[in-house]
Amino acid sequence: MKIFEARRMQTIPAYLFADLDRKKREAMARGVDVISFTIGDPDLPTPDAIVRAGQEAMGDPRNHRYPAYAGSDEFRAQAAAWMKKRFGVDLDAQGEIVALIGSKEGIAHLPLAMIDPGDLSLCPEPGYPVYAVATRLAGGEVHYLPLRAKNGFLPDLDAVEPGLASRAKMLWINYPNNPTAALADRGFLEKAVAFCRKHEILLCSDCAYSEIVLDGQGANSVLQIEGAKEVAIEFHSLSKSYNMTGWRVGFAAGSATAVGALSTLKSNLDSGVFDAVQQAGIAAMRQWPENLKGLLSTYQSRRDLLVEGLSGLGFEPPSPSATFYVWMPVPGGDDLEFAAKLIERAGVLVTPGSGFGPSGRGYVRLTLTLAEDRIAKAIERMRKAGIDGSIGGSGGSP
Ligand SMILES: *Cc1c(COP(=O)(O)O)cnc(C)c1O
Repeated sequence: MKIFEARRMQTIPAYLFADLDRKKREAMARGVDVISFTIGDPDLPTPDAIVRAGQEAMGDPRNHRYPAYAGSDEFRAQAAAWMKKRFGVDLDAQGEIVALIGSKEGIAHLPLAMIDPGDLSLCPEPGYPVYAVATRLAGGEVHYLPLRAKNGFLPDLDAVEPGLASRAKMLWINYPNNPTAALADRGFLEKAVAFCRKHEILLCSDCAYSEIVLDGQGANSVLQIEGAKEVAIEFHSLSKSYNMTGWRVGFAAGSATAVGALSTLKSNLDSGVFDAVQQAGIAAMRQWPENLKGLLSTYQSRRDLLVEGLSGLGFEPPSPSATFYVWMPVPGGDDLEFAAKLIERAGVLVTPGSGFGPSGRGYVRLTLTLAEDRIAKAIERMRKAGIDGSIGGSGGSP
């Protein structure tokens, strides 16, 4: 007797970081205090006022029952108010906003609501793997759009062949971008909206890092672009802006058709976000933008320390203006070899860029979600191990 999993499970790649995790465990088994730059999860706690709002709401028996599927009226009204205050975008809280169990949940479910077998989804690479995986699970096919440094890590929409554009049902964009830390200017968003209007494609904008902008002006919302609301849905997350990754709360906003389809699908699959968590989310959005001051200055100092440290070793790390990622080209261009050398010789863990897609080859991603003393220690260990920015030079063993 033997049981078999579904064939579609074969379309799911092994967990992106499984191999790295093994190398990390091996180093730890040798007694190494591994310094990890791989965690895409804020290390700082959720601000007190948000935690207290959640605690209070948790004690209220009214919140112990099933929540409303699409989110409470209060939560959606607050999300609409935030979108207005933050981006100047007008949204109907009832028809154009749906609460999500973290934005990943909505991103993963949307293709099931929008994609028929054989339909195409245009996905960025390197990129967050969920867009492509969810497309395939829904029976769709993926066409990857490479993000290259020479294009500012923006996809070249002019290069998409008409035959592909006409088969496409979804275009995924993610700015500020994980993993490249790129920002999109308004001109690109206008171009993306025009492309999607022309080819009748749903523009799916993942805005998880909209508030994590370290220099310059804030990120844009695609919904600010004229005519976007008919073709675009945008995913917002409270995870990175308020250090709330564990709470699981976010929302999608935009096209009533897409939001409606996602809500209907979700009402058949899950039963919504715990009302106490939604109330903590309301408290969070009401704190904005005061919450960001300390958070952004923490990431700024860590970024400067890491970028200066790596530059001092001869690397050429770009200093990111957004997100908490440093996307660094490695000497010699073999990111896997570089990451392996780093963990083995210095006990420092980074994510090889090729794990995010073939165009990520030659880069590593380092996160800023660890304390300054750990960053300084990592740089010191690299220096001692003779790992530097010269080609082939990252060796220097005695
Ligand atoms: C962290 C992240 C998300 C999802 O965050 P949630 O916690 O599910 O809201 C979505 N997209 C990208 C690119 C991310 O890095």
